[in-house]
Amino acid sequence: MKKNIAILGSTGSIGTQTLDVVRAFPHKFQVSVLTASNRADDLIKQALEFQPKIVVIISESAYSQVKEALAHTDIQVWAGEQALVEAVELEEIDVVLNAIVGSAGLRPTVRAIQSGKDIALANKETLVVSGELIMNLVKQHNVKMLPVDSEHSAIFQCLVGEPSPIEKIYLTASGGPFRGWSREQLAHVTKAEALKHPNWTMGAKITIDSASLMNKGLEVIEAKWLFDLSLNQIDVIVHPQSIIHSIVQFEDGSMKAQMGLPDMKLPIQYALTYPERYANNFKRFDFLDYSQLTFEKPDLHTFRNLQLAYDALAEGGNRCCVLNAANEIAVAAFLEDKVSFLGMSSILEETLCHIENKNNLSLEDYIAYDRESRIVAQDLINKIKHN
Ligand code: NAD
Ligand code: MG
Repeated sequence: MKKNIAILGSTGSIGTQTLDVVRAFPHKFQVSVLTASNRADDLIKQALEFQPKIVVIISESAYSQVKEALAHTDIQVWAGEQALVEAVELEEIDVVLNAIVGSAGLRPTVRAIQSGKDIALANKETLVVSGELIMNLVKQHNVKMLPVDSEHSAIFQCLVGEPSPIEKIYLTASGGPFRGWSREQLAHVTKAEALKHPNWTMGAKITIDSASLMNKGLEVIEAKWLFDLSLNQIDVIVHPQSIIHSIVQFEDGSMKAQMGLPDMKLPIQYALTYPERYANNFKRFDFLDYSQLTFEKPDLHTFRNLQLAYDALAEGGNRCCVLNAANEIAVAAFLEDKVSFLGMSSILEETLCHIENKNNLSLEDYIAYDRESRIVAQDLINKIKHN
Protein backbone atom coordinates (compact mmCIF):
# COMPACT_ATOMS: atom_id res chain seq x y z
CA MET A 1 0.00 0.00 0.00
CA LYS A 2 1.30 3.41 -0.94
CA LYS A 3 1.38 6.13 1.67
CA ASN A 4 -0.74 9.12 0.64
CA ILE A 5 0.87 12.45 1.39
CA ALA A 6 -0.43 16.00 1.42
CA ILE A 7 2.44 18.45 0.97
CA LEU A 8 1.59 21.93 2.22
CA GLY A 9 4.01 24.52 0.85
CA SER A 10 5.16 22.21 -1.94
CA THR A 11 6.91 24.96 -3.93
CA GLY A 12 9.31 25.92 -1.11
CA SER A 13 12.70 24.57 -0.11
CA ILE A 14 11.34 21.74 2.08
CA GLY A 15 8.37 21.17 -0.25
CA THR A 16 10.54 20.59 -3.33
CA GLN A 17 12.93 18.37 -1.39
CA THR A 18 9.96 16.36 -0.18
CA LEU A 19 8.98 15.87 -3.81
CA ASP A 20 12.56 14.68 -4.50
CA VAL A 21 12.06 12.03 -1.83
CA VAL A 22 8.66 11.05 -3.26
CA ARG A 23 10.19 10.85 -6.74
CA ALA A 24 12.86 8.47 -5.46
CA PHE A 25 10.25 6.01 -4.09
CA PRO A 26 7.41 5.94 -6.65
CA HIS A 27 6.13 2.60 -5.33
CA LYS A 28 5.96 3.80 -1.73
CA PHE A 29 4.39 7.26 -1.88
CA GLN A 30 1.47 8.91 -3.61
CA VAL A 31 0.91 12.67 -3.50
CA SER A 32 -2.73 13.52 -2.73
CA VAL A 33 -2.55 17.28 -2.19
CA LEU A 34 -0.11 20.01 -3.19
CA THR A 35 -0.41 23.60 -2.00
CA ALA A 36 1.42 26.85 -2.66
CA SER A 37 1.09 30.47 -1.76
CA ASN A 38 1.45 32.11 -5.17
CA ARG A 39 3.99 30.38 -7.41
CA ALA A 40 1.46 29.20 -9.96
CA ASP A 41 3.97 28.02 -12.59
CA ASP A 42 5.81 25.77 -10.14
CA LEU A 43 2.59 24.40 -8.69
CA ILE A 44 1.25 23.56 -12.16
CA LYS A 45 4.46 21.73 -13.08
CA GLN A 46 4.36 19.75 -9.85
CA ALA A 47 0.69 18.89 -10.32
CA LEU A 48 1.28 17.60 -13.85
CA GLU A 49 4.14 15.42 -12.66
CA PHE A 50 2.62 14.04 -9.43
CA GLN A 51 -1.08 14.00 -10.37
CA PRO A 52 -2.57 14.82 -6.93
CA LYS A 53 -6.33 14.81 -6.29
CA ILE A 54 -6.32 18.46 -5.19
CA VAL A 55 -4.05 21.47 -5.58
CA VAL A 56 -4.58 24.61 -3.54
CA ILE A 57 -3.23 28.01 -4.50
CA ILE A 58 -3.60 30.54 -1.70
CA SER A 59 -3.47 33.59 -3.92
CA GLU A 60 -6.96 33.93 -5.43
CA SER A 61 -5.57 36.00 -8.31
CA ALA A 62 -3.45 33.05 -9.48
CA TYR A 63 -6.45 30.68 -9.41
CA SER A 64 -7.54 31.03 -13.04
CA GLN A 65 -4.03 30.40 -14.35
CA VAL A 66 -3.77 27.13 -12.38
CA LYS A 67 -7.34 26.14 -13.22
CA GLU A 68 -6.78 26.64 -16.94
CA ALA A 69 -3.46 24.84 -17.00
CA LEU A 70 -4.97 21.79 -15.28
CA ALA A 71 -8.35 21.88 -17.05
CA HIS A 72 -7.51 18.79 -19.14
CA THR A 73 -6.73 16.72 -16.02
CA ASP A 74 -8.81 15.25 -13.16
CA ILE A 75 -7.02 17.43 -10.64
CA GLN A 76 -9.28 19.69 -8.59
CA VAL A 77 -8.05 23.24 -8.21
CA TRP A 78 -8.99 25.11 -5.05
CA ALA A 79 -8.02 28.61 -3.92
CA GLY A 80 -7.69 30.56 -0.69
CA GLU A 81 -6.81 30.00 2.95
CA GLN A 82 -10.02 28.20 3.84
CA ALA A 83 -9.52 25.77 0.94
CA LEU A 84 -6.08 24.95 2.33
CA VAL A 85 -7.58 24.03 5.69
CA GLU A 86 -10.28 21.90 4.04
CA ALA A 87 -7.92 20.07 1.68
CA VAL A 88 -6.10 18.33 4.55
CA GLU A 89 -9.35 16.54 5.47
CA LEU A 90 -9.32 14.47 2.26
CA GLU A 91 -10.15 10.89 3.27
CA GLU A 92 -7.23 9.16 1.53
CA ILE A 93 -4.46 11.26 3.15
CA ASP A 94 -2.25 9.33 5.60
CA VAL A 95 0.24 12.04 6.46
CA VAL A 96 0.28 15.81 6.09
CA LEU A 97 3.77 17.19 5.55
CA ASN A 98 3.54 20.81 6.58
CA ALA A 99 6.28 22.84 4.87
CA ILE A 100 4.51 26.19 5.01
CA VAL A 101 6.58 29.04 6.41
CA GLY A 102 5.25 30.99 9.38
CA SER A 103 2.16 30.90 11.56
CA ALA A 104 0.04 30.48 8.42
CA GLY A 105 0.78 26.79 8.98
CA LEU A 106 -1.11 26.68 12.27
CA ARG A 107 -4.73 26.23 11.17
CA PRO A 108 -3.99 23.52 8.59
CA THR A 109 -1.95 21.60 11.20
CA VAL A 110 -4.82 21.76 13.66
CA ARG A 111 -7.38 20.62 11.10
CA ALA A 112 -5.15 17.79 9.93
CA ILE A 113 -4.74 16.51 13.50
CA GLN A 114 -8.49 16.80 14.08
CA SER A 115 -9.04 14.74 10.91
CA GLY A 116 -6.83 11.98 12.30
CA LYS A 117 -3.88 12.55 9.97
CA ASP A 118 -0.29 11.97 11.03
CA ILE A 119 1.78 15.15 10.80
CA ALA A 120 5.30 15.46 9.40
CA LEU A 121 6.16 18.90 10.70
CA ALA A 122 8.67 21.25 9.13
CA ASN A 123 6.55 24.28 10.02
CA LYS A 124 8.10 24.85 13.46
CA GLU A 125 6.08 28.06 13.89
CA THR A 126 3.01 25.88 14.54
CA LEU A 127 4.61 24.64 17.77
CA VAL A 128 6.14 28.00 18.65
CA VAL A 129 2.76 29.74 18.54
CA SER A 130 0.76 27.16 20.48
CA GLY A 131 2.82 24.07 21.22
CA GLU A 132 0.93 22.96 24.30
CA LEU A 133 -2.43 23.13 22.55
CA ILE A 134 -1.06 21.26 19.52
CA MET A 135 0.54 18.46 21.53
CA ASN A 136 -2.68 18.03 23.53
CA LEU A 137 -4.59 17.68 20.26
CA VAL A 138 -2.03 15.13 19.04
CA LYS A 139 -2.69 13.03 22.17
CA GLN A 140 -6.43 13.48 21.99
CA HIS A 141 -6.64 12.39 18.34
CA ASN A 142 -3.95 9.73 18.70
CA VAL A 143 -1.95 10.83 15.67
CA LYS A 144 1.82 10.87 15.18
CA MET A 145 3.81 14.11 15.25
CA LEU A 146 6.92 13.39 13.19
CA PRO A 147 9.59 16.09 13.24
CA VAL A 148 11.17 17.19 9.95
CA ASP A 149 13.43 19.87 11.42
CA SER A 150 16.87 18.22 11.36
CA GLU A 151 17.69 18.77 15.04
CA HIS A 152 14.35 17.43 16.19
CA SER A 153 14.55 14.52 13.79
CA ALA A 154 17.95 13.78 15.34
CA ILE A 155 16.50 13.76 18.86
CA PHE A 156 13.55 11.67 17.65
CA GLN A 157 15.93 9.15 16.05
CA CYS A 158 18.04 8.96 19.24
CA LEU A 159 14.90 8.17 21.25
CA VAL A 160 13.75 5.22 19.15
CA GLY A 161 13.70 2.14 21.38
CA GLU A 162 14.46 4.13 24.56
CA PRO A 163 11.84 3.73 27.29
CA SER A 164 13.95 5.78 29.75
CA PRO A 165 13.57 9.49 30.48
CA ILE A 166 15.77 12.16 28.93
CA GLU A 167 18.17 13.98 31.24
CA LYS A 168 18.78 16.73 28.72
CA ILE A 169 19.19 17.43 25.04
CA TYR A 170 21.77 19.43 23.13
CA LEU A 171 20.40 21.19 20.08
CA THR A 172 23.26 21.91 17.72
CA ALA A 173 23.45 25.24 15.88
CA SER A 174 25.74 26.07 12.98
CA GLY A 175 26.10 29.63 14.29
CA GLY A 176 25.12 30.97 10.87
CA PRO A 177 27.17 33.31 8.65
CA PHE A 178 27.94 35.76 11.48
CA ARG A 179 29.33 33.34 14.05
CA GLY A 180 31.97 35.10 16.14
CA TRP A 181 30.96 38.59 14.99
CA SER A 182 30.52 41.48 17.45
CA ARG A 183 27.47 43.77 17.68
CA GLU A 184 29.55 46.53 16.09
CA GLN A 185 30.25 44.29 13.10
CA LEU A 186 26.60 43.27 12.88
CA ALA A 187 25.31 46.83 12.87
CA HIS A 188 25.66 47.23 9.12
CA VAL A 189 25.26 43.75 7.66
CA THR A 190 23.21 43.55 4.48
CA LYS A 191 20.49 41.09 3.57
CA ALA A 192 22.79 39.60 0.91
CA GLU A 193 25.33 38.74 3.63
CA ALA A 194 22.63 37.40 5.94
CA LEU A 195 21.17 35.23 3.17
CA LYS A 196 24.46 33.33 2.73
CA HIS A 197 24.19 30.36 5.06
CA PRO A 198 27.41 28.33 5.36
CA ASN A 199 25.86 24.82 5.41
CA TRP A 200 22.22 24.83 4.33
CA THR A 201 20.21 26.20 1.39
CA MET A 202 16.78 27.16 2.71
CA GLY A 203 13.89 29.58 2.29
CA ALA A 204 14.63 33.27 2.96
CA LYS A 205 12.84 33.51 6.31
CA ILE A 206 14.60 30.60 7.99
CA THR A 207 17.93 31.71 6.50
CA ILE A 208 17.61 35.11 8.20
CA ASP A 209 16.42 33.37 11.38
CA SER A 210 19.57 31.23 11.24
CA ALA A 211 21.78 34.30 10.89
CA SER A 212 20.14 35.95 13.92
CA LEU A 213 19.97 32.69 15.95
CA MET A 214 16.20 33.23 16.13
CA ASN A 215 15.90 29.89 14.37
CA LYS A 216 17.62 28.18 17.30
CA GLY A 217 15.32 30.03 19.68
CA LEU A 218 12.28 28.79 17.75
CA GLU A 219 13.80 25.30 17.82
CA VAL A 220 14.26 25.38 21.60
CA ILE A 221 10.53 26.11 21.90
CA GLU A 222 9.73 23.44 19.30
CA ALA A 223 11.82 20.88 21.24
CA LYS A 224 10.14 21.72 24.52
CA TRP A 225 6.73 20.77 23.19
CA LEU A 226 7.76 17.87 20.96
CA PHE A 227 9.69 16.08 23.70
CA ASP A 228 7.88 17.40 26.79
CA LEU A 229 11.00 18.93 28.37
CA SER A 230 11.57 21.69 30.87
CA LEU A 231 13.67 24.67 29.88
CA ASN A 232 16.75 23.59 31.85
CA GLN A 233 16.77 20.29 29.95
CA ILE A 234 17.45 22.08 26.64
CA ASP A 235 20.95 23.32 25.82
CA VAL A 236 22.15 24.90 22.62
CA ILE A 237 25.68 24.19 21.44
CA VAL A 238 27.25 25.81 18.40
CA HIS A 239 28.72 23.21 16.06
CA PRO A 240 29.79 24.97 12.87
CA GLN A 241 30.21 21.86 10.70
CA SER A 242 26.51 20.80 11.08
CA ILE A 243 27.40 17.10 11.11
CA ILE A 244 26.03 16.23 14.54
CA HIS A 245 22.38 17.16 14.16
CA SER A 246 21.60 16.97 17.91
CA ILE A 247 22.26 14.92 21.02
CA VAL A 248 20.23 13.24 23.77
CA GLN A 249 21.76 12.65 27.20
CA PHE A 250 20.11 10.00 29.36
CA GLU A 251 20.03 9.74 33.16
CA ASP A 252 22.98 7.34 33.26
CA GLY A 253 25.11 10.01 31.55
CA SER A 254 25.14 8.18 28.22
CA MET A 255 24.76 10.43 25.17
CA LYS A 256 23.41 9.53 21.75
CA ALA A 257 24.00 11.77 18.76
CA GLN A 258 22.60 11.53 15.26
CA MET A 259 25.07 12.45 12.53
CA GLY A 260 25.22 12.83 8.78
CA LEU A 261 25.85 15.33 6.06
CA PRO A 262 23.60 18.39 6.23
CA ASP A 263 20.84 17.40 3.79
CA MET A 264 17.17 17.97 4.66
CA LYS A 265 16.14 15.07 2.44
CA LEU A 266 17.23 12.66 5.17
CA PRO A 267 14.98 13.97 7.99
CA ILE A 268 12.16 14.44 5.44
CA GLN A 269 12.52 10.84 4.30
CA TYR A 270 12.66 9.52 7.87
CA ALA A 271 9.48 11.39 8.81
CA LEU A 272 7.75 9.72 5.85
CA THR A 273 9.14 6.20 6.40
CA TYR A 274 9.27 6.01 10.21
CA PRO A 275 9.71 3.53 11.84
CA GLU A 276 11.34 2.03 8.75
CA ARG A 277 14.42 3.29 6.93
CA TYR A 278 14.53 3.09 3.16
CA ALA A 279 17.82 2.60 1.33
CA ASN A 280 18.81 5.63 -0.73
CA ASN A 281 21.87 6.88 -2.53
CA PHE A 282 22.27 10.27 -0.84
CA LYS A 283 25.92 11.26 -0.46
CA ARG A 284 27.52 9.62 2.60
CA PHE A 285 29.61 11.35 5.27
CA ASP A 286 33.37 10.77 5.08
CA PHE A 287 35.29 11.33 8.33
CA LEU A 288 38.42 12.20 6.38
CA ASP A 289 36.68 15.22 4.82
CA TYR A 290 36.32 16.63 8.33
CA SER A 291 39.49 16.62 10.39
CA GLN A 292 37.65 18.34 13.26
CA LEU A 293 34.16 18.61 14.65
CA THR A 294 34.14 21.63 16.95
CA PHE A 295 31.81 23.07 19.60
CA GLU A 296 31.30 26.54 21.07
CA LYS A 297 29.02 28.35 23.47
CA PRO A 298 26.34 30.47 21.76
CA ASP A 299 26.83 34.23 22.22
CA LEU A 300 23.52 35.30 23.76
CA HIS A 301 24.69 38.86 24.28
CA THR A 302 25.34 39.48 20.59
CA PHE A 303 22.50 37.32 19.28
CA ARG A 304 19.72 38.53 21.55
CA ASN A 305 16.93 36.68 19.81
CA LEU A 306 17.97 33.36 21.29
CA GLN A 307 17.77 34.84 24.79
CA LEU A 308 14.38 36.38 23.92
CA ALA A 309 13.12 32.94 22.94
CA TYR A 310 14.32 31.39 26.21
CA ASP A 311 12.64 34.22 28.14
CA ALA A 312 9.37 33.90 26.19
CA LEU A 313 9.26 30.17 26.84
CA ALA A 314 9.94 30.70 30.56
CA GLU A 315 7.15 33.28 30.81
CA GLY A 316 4.63 31.21 28.84
CA GLY A 317 1.12 32.45 28.00
CA ASN A 318 1.06 34.36 24.73
CA ARG A 319 4.80 35.29 24.78
CA CYS A 320 6.06 32.79 22.20
CA CYS A 321 3.13 33.57 19.91
CA VAL A 322 3.84 37.32 20.09
CA LEU A 323 7.58 36.78 19.65
CA ASN A 324 7.03 34.62 16.58
CA ALA A 325 4.61 37.03 14.90
CA ALA A 326 6.85 40.04 15.57
CA ASN A 327 9.77 38.08 14.17
CA GLU A 328 7.91 37.23 10.96
CA ILE A 329 7.22 40.93 10.43
CA ALA A 330 10.76 41.97 11.40
CA VAL A 331 12.35 39.46 9.03
CA ALA A 332 10.10 40.55 6.15
CA ALA A 333 11.05 44.18 6.88
CA PHE A 334 14.76 43.31 7.00
CA LEU A 335 14.40 41.62 3.61
CA GLU A 336 12.91 44.87 2.30
CA ASP A 337 15.71 46.96 3.86
CA LYS A 338 13.25 48.61 6.26
CA VAL A 339 14.96 47.54 9.47
CA SER A 340 18.59 46.78 10.29
CA PHE A 341 19.84 43.36 11.31
CA LEU A 342 20.14 44.32 15.00
CA GLY A 343 16.99 46.41 14.75
CA MET A 344 15.01 43.19 14.33
CA SER A 345 15.63 42.27 18.00
CA SER A 346 14.37 45.68 19.13
CA ILE A 347 11.15 45.16 17.17
CA LEU A 348 10.64 41.85 18.97
CA GLU A 349 11.29 43.35 22.41
CA GLU A 350 9.07 46.36 21.83
CA THR A 351 6.22 44.25 20.47
CA LEU A 352 6.41 42.03 23.55
CA CYS A 353 6.27 45.16 25.75
CA HIS A 354 3.21 46.52 23.93
CA ILE A 355 1.12 43.39 24.33
CA GLU A 356 0.11 42.17 27.77
CA ASN A 357 0.73 38.53 28.61
CA LYS A 358 -2.32 36.29 29.03
CA ASN A 359 -2.64 32.62 29.93
CA ASN A 360 -5.10 29.81 29.19
CA LEU A 361 -5.54 30.59 25.51
CA SER A 362 -7.69 28.90 22.90
CA LEU A 363 -6.67 28.46 19.26
CA GLU A 364 -8.69 31.55 18.33
CA ASP A 365 -6.96 33.54 21.11
CA TYR A 366 -3.55 32.58 19.71
CA ILE A 367 -4.64 33.56 16.21
CA ALA A 368 -5.89 36.90 17.55
CA TYR A 369 -2.57 37.55 19.35
CA ASP A 370 -0.69 36.58 16.20
CA ARG A 371 -2.69 39.15 14.23
CA GLU A 372 -2.38 41.88 16.87
CA SER A 373 1.39 41.35 17.22
CA ARG A 374 1.86 41.69 13.48
CA ILE A 375 0.04 45.02 13.50
CA VAL A 376 2.07 46.31 16.46
CA ALA A 377 5.38 45.16 14.92
CA GLN A 378 4.45 46.69 11.56
CA ASP A 379 3.59 50.02 13.23
CA LEU A 380 6.95 50.03 14.98
CA ILE A 381 8.69 49.44 11.65
CA ASN A 382 6.70 52.15 9.89
CA LYS A 383 7.81 54.59 12.60
CA ILE A 384 11.50 53.77 12.02
CA LYS A 385 10.99 54.56 8.35
CA HIS A 386 9.52 57.99 9.04
CA ASN A 387 12.23 59.12 11.47
P1 NAD B 1 10.07 28.47 1.73
O1 NAD B 1 9.87 29.93 1.86
O2 NAD B 1 11.11 27.97 0.81
O3 NAD B 1 8.68 27.78 1.32
C1 NAD B 1 7.49 28.09 1.98
C2 NAD B 1 6.30 27.41 1.32
O4 NAD B 1 5.12 27.82 2.02
C3 NAD B 1 6.09 27.78 -0.14
O5 NAD B 1 5.60 26.67 -0.84
C4 NAD B 1 5.01 28.87 -0.08
O6 NAD B 1 4.21 28.89 -1.25
C5 NAD B 1 4.19 28.45 1.11
N1 NAD B 1 3.60 29.59 1.82
C6 NAD B 1 4.20 30.76 2.14
N2 NAD B 1 3.35 31.57 2.79
C7 NAD B 1 2.18 30.91 2.87
C8 NAD B 1 0.90 31.22 3.42
N3 NAD B 1 0.67 32.40 4.02
N4 NAD B 1 -0.08 30.30 3.35
C9 NAD B 1 0.14 29.12 2.76
N5 NAD B 1 1.32 28.75 2.20
C10 NAD B 1 2.33 29.64 2.26
O7 NAD B 1 10.34 27.94 3.23
P2 NAD B 1 11.18 26.65 3.67
O8 NAD B 1 12.60 27.02 3.86
O9 NAD B 1 10.82 25.47 2.84
O10 NAD B 1 10.60 26.44 5.15
C11 NAD B 1 9.31 25.92 5.39
C12 NAD B 1 9.19 25.57 6.86
O11 NAD B 1 10.12 24.54 7.17
C13 NAD B 1 9.52 26.74 7.81
O12 NAD B 1 8.71 26.67 8.92
C14 NAD B 1 10.96 26.47 8.18
O13 NAD B 1 11.29 27.00 9.44
C15 NAD B 1 10.99 24.94 8.22
N6 NAD B 1 12.31 24.36 8.00
C16 NAD B 1 12.95 24.58 6.84
C17 NAD B 1 14.22 24.03 6.63
C18 NAD B 1 14.93 24.22 5.31
O14 NAD B 1 16.00 23.64 5.13
N7 NAD B 1 14.42 24.99 4.39
C19 NAD B 1 14.79 23.26 7.63
C20 NAD B 1 14.11 23.04 8.81
C21 NAD B 1 12.84 23.60 8.98
MG1 MG C 1 16.65 23.05 12.20
